[in-house]
Amino acid sequence: MSKFKKLTTNLFLIKNFIQLFICLGIGLLVPPKTYSWGFFGHRYINYHSVFLLPPEMISFYKMNIQYLEDHSVDPDKRRYAIPEEAPRHYIDMDQYGKFPFLDLPKRWNEAVDKFSEDTLHAHGIAPWWIMIMQNRLKKAFIQKNKNEILKLSAEIGHYIADVHVPLHASSNHNGQKTDQLGIHGFWESRLPELYAESEYDLFIGKATFIENQLNFIWDRIYESANASDSVLKIEKVLSLRTPSHKRFNYEDRNGVLMRQFSTLYANRYHDSLKGMVERRMAASIYAISSFWYSAWVEAGQPSLSDMGKGNSDSASNKEMELLQFYWLGNRIIGRSCTN
Ligand SMILES: [Zn+2]
Repeated sequence: MSKFKKLTTNLFLIKNFIQLFICLGIGLLVPPKTYSWGFFGHRYINYHSVFLLPPEMISFYKMNIQYLEDHSVDPDKRRYAIPEEAPRHYIDMDQYGKFPFLDLPKRWNEAVDKFSEDTLHAHGIAPWWIMIMQNRLKKAFIQKNKNEILKLSAEIGHYIADVHVPLHASSNHNGQKTDQLGIHGFWESRLPELYAESEYDLFIGKATFIENQLNFIWDRIYESANASDSVLKIEKVLSLRTPSHKRFNYEDRNGVLMRQFSTLYANRYHDSLKGMVERRMAASIYAISSFWYSAWVEAGQPSLSDMGKGNSDSASNKEMELLQFYWLGNRIIGRSCTN
């Protein structure tokens, strides 16, 4: 082998080694972009929510089902653009005592009087934000503004799904207080990705009118808060019984080698949760569809049959481009699910 050939071969090997080293390092240190319920989960939930709607609504929603799926993750993308966004996705119920959480008023004004707006923002404002979105959706139905109806339907779907995730109701949201880093994405992204399509039955009955939507959302948050202990404890017990090399493996994700929970370990955790992920996913779907339906009923049941396909106006396209731009910049503002 000539000296030159030898040198280039060595350089090639060194380059490959460095690349592998960087990939492994990045894989360990930088998690992939995360969404609550995961990119897959939010799309899946919004999609299935359409099929619970009554005949007067289903054709319009079905016609726009692609939009509802595609924009189910816009609120998470917005977390890369504006600081106010993050607290809309969670509420740390453990900061307000224990179930039945009598110390925390359900209504915004009363909660502000008791705790101050700053404190509420610090621990998350998800239930109140959902009600703001619901009122906007109702208004959009009254005005028969199809682009707004679609945008708000897609986005309220995201926020409602988020509060069904137990760790969105806990300040130990990524197991950072109990040495369980990564559990957030494990429960809400990895498990649905592995099991939802093959094992879950999510075509579940039909939407119903919810008289008191604020109370309904609070009940779902109490359930999430109560379940968050099990989510953490079950994984803790399992992790102590499973050696690290069986808990994790490396998988190629968009060209980057990522360390993640192994399928074997995911199987064990999923079995130990005894259907919890499927139940919370189904409950999300029922809640979203029922919120869409309730907004429409309260708006006087306007006819949707003449509305057709929506959301190609330039203002909404511009906003989407901007969200995409910030999201690609990869710097989340406020709490992410990975720190
Ligand atoms: Zn979210």
